[in-house]
Amino acid sequence: MAGNCKNPKIYDISMFIFDAHLDLSMNAMEWNRDLTRSVEDIRKGEQGMTDKPDRGNNTVSLDAMRKGNIGLCVATQIARYVHKDNALPGWKSPQQAWAQTQGQLAWYKSMEDAKEMVQITNKTQLDAHLELWKTDKEKKPIGYLLSLEGADSIIDVSYLQRSYDQGLRAIGPAHYGPGTYAHGTNSSGGIGTKGRNLLKEIQRLGIILDVTHLCDISFWETMVNYDGPLWASHNNCRALVNHHRQFTDEQIKEIIARKGIIGVVLDAWMMVPNWERGVSTPQSAGVSLQQMLDNIDHICQLAGNANHVGIGSDLDGGFGKEQGPADVDTIADLQKCVHLLENRGYSPQDIEKIMNGNFISFLRENLK
Ligand SMILES: [Zn+2]
Repeated sequence: MAGNCKNPKIYDISMFIFDAHLDLSMNAMEWNRDLTRSVEDIRKGEQGMTDKPDRGNNTVSLDAMRKGNIGLCVATQIARYVHKDNALPGWKSPQQAWAQTQGQLAWYKSMEDAKEMVQITNKTQLDAHLELWKTDKEKKPIGYLLSLEGADSIIDVSYLQRSYDQGLRAIGPAHYGPGTYAHGTNSSGGIGTKGRNLLKEIQRLGIILDVTHLCDISFWETMVNYDGPLWASHNNCRALVNHHRQFTDEQIKEIIARKGIIGVVLDAWMMVPNWERGVSTPQSAGVSLQQMLDNIDHICQLAGNANHVGIGSDLDGGFGKEQGPADVDTIADLQKCVHLLENRGYSPQDIEKIMNGNFISFLRENLK
């Protein structure tokens, strides 16, 4: 993070990017987007649609990822189960939530059959994939590590082995609201016996724990009950935007102490204070990649190095251009971060770590 780049020319070639959080199958199966198409093409097909707030504004497709040299990502399965007294949208039973995630997996598998994507489950596959992306082969498959955002769809802990066998390599126990295994964003409470048993099984299987979305009480209880590998796939800093969805400096330091990585996220309301959904615009609120850099900087300052931060854009997490940085039209614009980091005085080595190296080293260490 210190020192000026002596040879800016190295950035003329686009840098390989790792994105630690994308909800690709949710977009395919619930937003009905054919992600093999260009972003422009998907937008055209959504003209006049009003069923989702981000219609016609999407920023992610496999095509755009290739254009931006984003050759590897963590891609989610996601399905919430809601109790009778929970007002959040979700499935009425864990079995339905499980079935939803299985449909999402079937889409990833069909993308593999079509050579659009490839699943990464171990170190050998990871290294082979990275080698492939160094070649100039046309239309390279996007590598994905399968993750589960919110564990409600795990009917009971025995289902985690099934998911592992399907390739699941990361899991976040919570999403929004009270969940079966932990309390998530906009709720407050602990992890309970079910949560503790899930953590044991996560650790036994060697799955990476994603601490994103855990409320403060569940976060700290998790730290007491788990000592395996962990990351926060998409999380910003509470010191910059004061909301409980963001991590305090103390939480960030805990993740750093456990050799974890934090992926900074590009949802506008987590980047600037006082964002009003549906009212604020990226232009009116002055949202740009600069706030992403502020979050990166903050984490690097807490760590004293650039070894614990990466990108977890969440650019298809239920929002699009209307709620993202003004200087991001598609996910390919993540390439702009390279120059922005350079302008802030980050060394070429540190830029590489942030854009891909930290998460890749983490996977090399923690995948079997
Ligand atoms: Zn999320």
